[in-house]
Amino acid sequence: MKTRQDIRKQKKNQQKRLSALLAILGLGALLLFTYFWSQPSQHSVKQPTETITSQSDSSSSSSESTKTEKVNWVKQDTPVKLPILMYHAIHDMAPEEAASANNIISPEVFNAQMQALSEAGYYTLTPEEAYKVLTENVLPDNKKVVWLTFDDSIWDFYSHAYPILTKYQMTATNNVITGLVQNEAAGSLTLPQILEMQAGGMTFQGHTVNHPSLADATIDTQLSELSESKTYLDTHLQQKTIAVAYPSGRYTPDTLAIAEELGYKLGVTTNNGLASLSDGLLSLNRVRVFPTTTPEMLLQEITP
Ligand SMILES: [Zn+2]
Repeated sequence: MKTRQDIRKQKKNQQKRLSALLAILGLGALLLFTYFWSQPSQHSVKQPTETITSQSDSSSSSSESTKTEKVNWVKQDTPVKLPILMYHAIHDMAPEEAASANNIISPEVFNAQMQALSEAGYYTLTPEEAYKVLTENVLPDNKKVVWLTFDDSIWDFYSHAYPILTKYQMTATNNVITGLVQNEAAGSLTLPQILEMQAGGMTFQGHTVNHPSLADATIDTQLSELSESKTYLDTHLQQKTIAVAYPSGRYTPDTLAIAEELGYKLGVTTNNGLASLSDGLLSLNRVRVFPTTTPEMLLQEITP
């Protein structure tokens, strides 16, 4: 027979269990709310203050993984050929820049190229998605894909390219010369600009610290250039940097081995053509875009 004390004890235990359950439910709801609230919306422009919040709240590639979840990936029968476009500067060329004219595209021309890609139904990839496309041989349902890359972390990516990319809801990868950013060199993107654009859906990958020709560098130099730039990006952008662009497209088999050892999963070169798995993930072709590349030429060149 239960005593009154036993019953009271039982009641107390039930209450304890109930409040524990409520606490768990409440915590769960709070976590869910915080999670969704902190997810940066895809490709949207965020205020710098929000940048810091989303940096600390969500892990490295949360915007990318959110993006990936929305895509219906379909396995392909034949090996995927992926166009990786290579850009450098986007601004109106000054007369004294004539020597590097091939690397400078006016905002008008760039806008026309992005408009053409957008109207042709191209989906722009993050580095993680490019890796997925090549390794799993998948493409988004009813979409063509392109990976837009910009080398050298030039100042105009923030002021000229980024607004155009955002307008067409595109993402792009800028391959950063970390030494220039670290030293706040003239003509370079700044770290706050990079963080703001990262929160707005852009991605940033490796391009060494000092932009040496890795093919002509010692093993030690190659190691430090590839490793220190990765650490800089991993730390300051709170991400796992997976891609590297070899400066001036110069590399040796040693370079590829070192890059792999350091954890890079993708390496992009200046070898011209569409990228495919058979070329090796660390030595992928790119398609160089020129100031003279018309939208029609571009679409034709990247059609597999
Ligand atoms: Zn470069």
